[in-house]
Amino acid sequence: MTDKIFIGVAWPYANGSLHLGHIAGCYLPADIFARYNRLKGRDVLMVSGSDEHGTPITITAKNEKTTPQAIVDRYSKEHTDNMKQLGISFDLFTRTTTKNHKSVVQDIFLTLYEKGYIYKKNIEAYYCEKCSRYLPDRYIEGICPHCNKEGARGDQCDCCGKLLDTFELINVRCKLCGGIPIRQTTDHLFFALSKFESKLLDWISDKDYWKSNVLKFSNNWLKGGLIDRAVTRDLSWGIDIPVAGFEKKRIYVWFDAVTGYLSASKEWSKMQEKPSKWEEWWKNKDAKHYYFLAKDNIPFHSIIWPSMLMGYDESLNLPYDIPANEYLCLSGEQFSKSRSVAVWVPDILQKFDPDAIRYYLSINMPENKDSNWLWNDFVAKNNDELVGTYGNFIHRVVTFTSKNFGEIPKLGKLNDKDNEVLKKIETASVEVGDSLEHCHFKKGLRAAMNLAQFGNVYFDQNQPWILVKNDKERCGTVLHMCLKLVQALAVFTAPYLPFSSDKIWKMLGNKTLLNDWDNALSELNEGYSLEKPTLLFKKLLLEDIVEKADPFSKLDLRTARVIEVENHPDADKLYVIQLDLGPLGKRSLVAGIKPYYTQDEIKGKSIIIVSNLKPVKLRGIESKGMLLAAEDDQGIVSLLCLKRF
Ligand SMILES: [Zn+2]
Ligand SMILES: [Zn+2]
Repeated sequence: MTDKIFIGVAWPYANGSLHLGHIAGCYLPADIFARYNRLKGRDVLMVSGSDEHGTPITITAKNEKTTPQAIVDRYSKEHTDNMKQLGISFDLFTRTTTKNHKSVVQDIFLTLYEKGYIYKKNIEAYYCEKCSRYLPDRYIEGICPHCNKEGARGDQCDCCGKLLDTFELINVRCKLCGGIPIRQTTDHLFFALSKFESKLLDWISDKDYWKSNVLKFSNNWLKGGLIDRAVTRDLSWGIDIPVAGFEKKRIYVWFDAVTGYLSASKEWSKMQEKPSKWEEWWKNKDAKHYYFLAKDNIPFHSIIWPSMLMGYDESLNLPYDIPANEYLCLSGEQFSKSRSVAVWVPDILQKFDPDAIRYYLSINMPENKDSNWLWNDFVAKNNDELVGTYGNFIHRVVTFTSKNFGEIPKLGKLNDKDNEVLKKIETASVEVGDSLEHCHFKKGLRAAMNLAQFGNVYFDQNQPWILVKNDKERCGTVLHMCLKLVQALAVFTAPYLPFSSDKIWKMLGNKTLLNDWDNALSELNEGYSLEKPTLLFKKLLLEDIVEKADPFSKLDLRTARVIEVENHPDADKLYVIQLDLGPLGKRSLVAGIKPYYTQDEIKGKSIIIVSNLKPVKLRGIESKGMLLAAEDDQGIVSLLCLKRF
């Protein structure tokens, strides 16, 4: 029987566009892993979908004066399209608003309720009399008890980032009507997470192969003692609670979302017209379950979801591995929708090819620590590695062979150098494969790139452009070996760069699909006619990108030494300053800092100027550039001045 691999990927919240942090955090690593396993002949089921319930969506709908349904329809479509464009190869990417999902969630909920794992508890909650409803935490605003800022939400303060208990807030208000809510008691249902503590400890005890951050995080949660979690919300947008007396409440979105892994598997089976096929992954003890997510999502997958499964049906498989990533940041700052620090997926897909994006995210993946999306590094890695090393090798080999032979040339007698090529391919197959097997994606790609680099050296050392004139047979052998490298590279990079790998595969004259890892080592079909090589990757120019992304980077800032300062003949507040910019020469500049500095205070100092502005005339005297200065809250202007020691 084929190995079964289940891959669950965190469900993106349908309340906004995806950014690159999401892709690097879980979608790309999951896809690389899925593609690799399919190449190894394993039976992969990879599912996810948009997470469409919960208060952030109802709040967005209210702000945009539309319905929650309209919001989730918009983002579910956008997410689905983006995943496809990026080549994230889900077997099913569905939604939490399907009928199937609702029935699976309600079934688990009711089963847990009947087994006593979900129980009723009377708790205090805020009630708004004007709106005649209970208010979930996101519907409450007030003053943060930690930083004293207005506008903190009932669950978290955006200003200081602290998580809050609703009742800690000062001067609470109803977010819907602005009225003052009152405290009342109401029944809610709770999931008895605490009952699973010892079972979880037992289960997690042999997970020493987990990433250390995941294991540490989960163990810390367990050590702290597990607290039962509310599983119902005062909301009308969500899945109905299948227990009498809770008609006005809905199932809490965290419970709803994690259940998607099972419901999507069942939905996919129905689509295959084999309704119980999901059991091959969920009830077969040899199947392995991998969950991909970013680090903020770890406890939901290492503690909460396993507890729900244990309580619901002990015959279902628990996670085998949870290779959660750290964060991808943007030039050192964490991606954030509220602070608009992000590179949005719909935008970047309009500007760059998916493989160029996938390459940089893979080689720079936040596997063990946070990493950064840097535009200059993106351009450098694209141009030097993807175009310069990898694309260049394939292009020169295929073009040269095509021009001089038109087909895959015959292999003659092999020398030591040629045998080394074969050896390198075999070693790389093990190295890349082993890395992918253990979700070390960066390392795997690095090994593939090293093989491309080796290919360039082999090509150069054998000088086929000379051989073609005086020893065509030997030339054919060299090119045959190069094409073997090309073939192997197409296979090794297929999980990372699926679009270009398919193109390379076709260039080699293959009519079948690239679908087997062992193809990396297989014999080439001598005499196969090569397809005309197409351009695989494009060189990028930083100026094209950065101008659009960051207007500040257009400024050319320079240090300049003040040689002379004179009063402007026709203005009270202006100085005419002579500057020395070193290699850029000397120039004069007019600045309105006379009220703040004497001539002697500036003379001889080094200041910073913007040197690439259009010259302007100020009261008749030309000024080439602008010096940097800023005003404080008293109206005092200070020069940005360098003291040199
Ligand atoms: Zn605060
Ligand atoms: Zn209200």
